[in-house]
Amino acid sequence: MIVGVPAAREPETRVAMTPAVAEDLIEVDHEVHVESGAGEGAGWDDVAYREAGCEIRDDRESVLADAEVVFEVTALGAVDDPDPTQYREGQVVVGMLGPFGIDDATQKTLAEGGVTALAIELVPRISRAQSMDANSSQANVAGYKAAVQAAEQLDRMVPMQMTAAGTVQPAEVFVIGAGVAGLQAISTADRLGASVSAYDIRPEAAEEITSVGAEFVELDVHTDDASDEEGHAVEQDEEFYRKQRDQLGEVVAESDALITTAAVASGEAPRLVTDEAIAAMDDGSVVIDLAADGGGNCDPTRPDQRVDHEGVTVLGPTNLPATVPRTASQLYANNLVNFIENMLEDGELTVDTDDEIVDATLLTHDGTVRNPHRDDSEADDSESNGDGQPEEADDDATDGGESA
Ligand code: NAD
Repeated sequence: MIVGVPAAREPETRVAMTPAVAEDLIEVDHEVHVESGAGEGAGWDDVAYREAGCEIRDDRESVLADAEVVFEVTALGAVDDPDPTQYREGQVVVGMLGPFGIDDATQKTLAEGGVTALAIELVPRISRAQSMDANSSQANVAGYKAAVQAAEQLDRMVPMQMTAAGTVQPAEVFVIGAGVAGLQAISTADRLGASVSAYDIRPEAAEEITSVGAEFVELDVHTDDASDEEGHAVEQDEEFYRKQRDQLGEVVAESDALITTAAVASGEAPRLVTDEAIAAMDDGSVVIDLAADGGGNCDPTRPDQRVDHEGVTVLGPTNLPATVPRTASQLYANNLVNFIENMLEDGELTVDTDDEIVDATLLTHDGTVRNPHRDDSEADDSESNGDGQPEEADDDATDGGESA
């Protein structure tokens, strides 16, 4: 198998292959072709890849010319303008391809070009697939960095100080949403010495929250339908969110740092914290809203902007893993290799649509668009082939195509 690793375009800093992961592949007789400079944003130069046994190619085109499998970081290698014609027939492309936002024209071009595109974001939450779960590996990095960023932005020290010059209480950190990112944010803030409390809509999160060092905040608002069978929180009605906002406001106002990570399966972030609640925090406090990409959990959040909201700094970073590129790339490269190894039969790459993991992640294969999450799949059921998979996409492209 020849694995091609083109460089991700700026401002992405991550790379989909590390020298160490490449070495393991090369040891079992695969080839790895890396675009010159692909690892530089994450701290690996061409020499490191060459020493691991990789072939360095001058540009993206020459990587794609020979690769059987292409490892991408984000949507088809581009941030704004993905080019689906760059791949050749029979090529397998795997990466964070943005299955929820990719437009129909892009998918149709991929399918008609005979490209097999697999979106790693759609890996099912089954134990066999845990080592391939890039959502979790990247969320873990984001949660860590959110806590570090909060500490760095605060105008006070985080741990308790008992010195001759006086005693300083630990910073109060409140985390809303205790999934993978939230739990990592809690344990990082705890290790920094903060006094941490946290809340999640899922009752089972209470035990996880306390096990990583935080106090569970219980609200007087309940639902019988908090999460689905995969563990994703279920979207609630506006009345439920209004009650949450009212009660969360009191805890937020007492916090020095607020980290929000609440997400539901649809991708649209629930709005849980009001302008007023944030304005009631002390001046110099900080909010890190990890749900900014989905519209934000907090009223003042603006994606990738720094907002000064009545003396409180509000940050809405949409790609924190790229600010920890070395670790994020190591984990991501492992995810991709584990994913591809699942598709090898006697050393040959095989697209087995009966395999649950392959089936769940296929956007295009065999000339067909299979992505059940494409833009208009709900709007036009007539194109469905009966098993929930659309047969072919529309021509009318919308914007989008951006990933993660
Ligand atoms: P996520 O990114 O989908 O959402 C983040 C958190 O926000 C979740 O804990 C969710 O319950 C919470 N949330 C949503 N709406 C909320 C609201 N209105 N108020 C408060 N909190 C709200 O979550 P995730 O990281 O995907 O994790 C969700 C669960 O799934 C966790 O228990 C996690 O351990 C589990 N998980 C399992 C696997 C697996 O392979 N089995 C993989 C990843 C996550």
